[in-house]
Amino acid sequence: MPDFSSGEIKGIVFDLDGTLYVCERFASEIQDAAAIYISGIKRLSYSEAMQMMAETRQRLTQENGTVQTISAVCSELGGSVQEMHRFFTQTLRPEAYLIRDERVIHLLKRLSAQFSIYIYTNNNRILTARIMNYLGLDSIADGTFTIDDAWRAKPDEEMVVRIIESIGLKPEETLFVGDRYDIDLRVPDQLGCPVYLSQSIEQLLLLGELLTQKPSADMSAVR
Ligand SMILES: [Mg+2]
Repeated sequence: MPDFSSGEIKGIVFDLDGTLYVCERFASEIQDAAAIYISGIKRLSYSEAMQMMAETRQRLTQENGTVQTISAVCSELGGSVQEMHRFFTQTLRPEAYLIRDERVIHLLKRLSAQFSIYIYTNNNRILTARIMNYLGLDSIADGTFTIDDAWRAKPDEEMVVRIIESIGLKPEETLFVGDRYDIDLRVPDQLGCPVYLSQSIEQLLLLGELLTQKPSADMSAVR
């Protein structure tokens, strides 16, 4: 169990999908939409596109030794990540799948009293705003970083460096929270940031406990 009680952490950068909410049906809706987009550009049937994407993801994962994102698969197959996200914005309906969880709203509000809160996601700005609004989290974050800021998908060291600089904290003061180590946490970890893997709402809620434990050192000097 990580120990975050030293008082060093000042800001928290949360991934969105699979981290601040967990919803298998919406996750598979995103995969479906990506397959429809790829089927269009490759002139394949939906099931052929699904299969090609699965094979590509598996091959890239083997070649790179890390889990691969939908953005990486799209680019590898000759698609445009921008076009795919335009299609996502037009077709995805997060409101049909997601359920507002008061425990998460309470957690983020509680944490925001003590830490600055940011969102960093491979989702696009329009869908991120819709999801945050629907989940009741829209007014809590101090800043949001989305894929369309620079069209550089996670994992991306340059983006993580830029984010840490723009929020004005040191790496050791910036906690990254995400549901996929390879995508969300490896780069920040290598840059010296504390990281927390959260793959369920229970794990997310546990983070609140870990961060608000009694300090082991004199944290009044840091905060
Ligand atoms: Mg995620």
